[in-house]
Amino acid sequence: MNRTLDIRKRVALIAHDNKKPELVEWVKYNKSTLKRHQLFATGTTGKLIEAELDVPVTKLLSGPLGGDQQIGALISEGKIDILIFFWDPMSAQPHDPDIKALLRLGVVWNIPIASDRSTADFILTSPLFHEKYEVKIPDYTAYIKRKDF
Ligand code: PGA
Repeated sequence: MNRTLDIRKRVALIAHDNKKPELVEWVKYNKSTLKRHQLFATGTTGKLIEAELDVPVTKLLSGPLGGDQQIGALISEGKIDILIFFWDPMSAQPHDPDIKALLRLGVVWNIPIASDRSTADFILTSPLFHEKYEVKIPDYTAYIKRKDF
């Protein structure tokens, strides 16, 4: 099964506290491109981005309060096309299980995920980011119809 991504992508942005300056800098650098897309973010990250870009960002709850889970749910519903998530590899997070769940759902639904700035650069400069794109949704029919329990 396929899902067609529009030219205007739905991009989710999240950064852990130590990574927020890096994400804000990246967003600032890519302002003109990002402004043309629909942006979603966890609470605190969203406020920072909105202030920087001066465009509306759909802000969910703060990550540790459930924001990561909300983004994960949107991914599962096919409502997020790309995840830019600068997670902190050097500090433990209180919501570690939620982070793991979010990253897992991104892979379950085959969406592009950038965990660092280089990958985010590659995604944003890909020609596919600027055109319609057919995402192949993995076939989970066999799993859904399983009877081995
Ligand atoms: P925040 O959440 O944007 O509200 O800081 C991010 C996170 O910790 O997942």
